[in-house]
Amino acid sequence: MTETVPAPRWRELAPGVFTRRYAGWDLSVGLVVGAARCLVVDTREGPDEGAELAAAVREITSLPWSVVLTHDHFDHADGLPAFLPCEVWAHPACAAALRERDRAVPDYRPVDGRVELDLGGRSVVLDHPGAAHSRGDVYVHVPGTGVVFAGDLVEHVPGGSFGTESFGADTTLAGWPPALTRLLGLAPHTVVPGHGEVVGPGFLARCRDELRLLLDLHHAVRAGELSPDAAAARSRLPADVTVAALAAPG
Ligand SMILES: [Zn+2]
Repeated sequence: MTETVPAPRWRELAPGVFTRRYAGWDLSVGLVVGAARCLVVDTREGPDEGAELAAAVREITSLPWSVVLTHDHFDHADGLPAFLPCEVWAHPACAAALRERDRAVPDYRPVDGRVELDLGGRSVVLDHPGAAHSRGDVYVHVPGTGVVFAGDLVEHVPGGSFGTESFGADTTLAGWPPALTRLLGLAPHTVVPGHGEVVGPGFLARCRDELRLLLDLHHAVRAGELSPDAAAARSRLPADVTVAALAAPG
């Protein structure tokens, strides 16, 4: 199934809460604007792409910005230089992974649990729900709006949820369903995935169920009770996605 991603433009999900979706990687980023400053959620995949996003933020607001990184993967984090100097909020594992790749995080502010930021008349909650898609996932909740920026805790590929890229050597499969339970506990109305069109809570619950089944299949394969082919046949996700998930650490 194919889907055409339109030219990037801001979409206002709630007053002062925006998302912007790109054809490249089908990435979705975020922007939350307060009375005193704004918060940029993820930075795109490189310095040029980051500069495009920074200029686009300036179409919306001239307020100083802070950045939050939902995780360390390049498609979300490597546009950061275009925003520096500024406060950079991230989980310690995210900051460590960036330093390992020689990506500087100068004004680093750790999100190791729940952090509430005051943007001026608007608070935003940053939270680490445990290791899941990566070791340092952070989601962003905008209380009072029903909007959650989920990073790659939620993905929405054309025609489905997760893709082969969703599962890597830094994935903790067992941590992922409880992380989505935490997101569902916020009773979100609008969830911005790391990739793809925005979704609602029903999609989130479906993702959690798919991941729970993957985790069961993962255990069964590791225990020798099920062959990888049999596991792929029972998964609700495409075979190549299931194979990638089964290769991830449990
Ligand atoms: Zn991603």
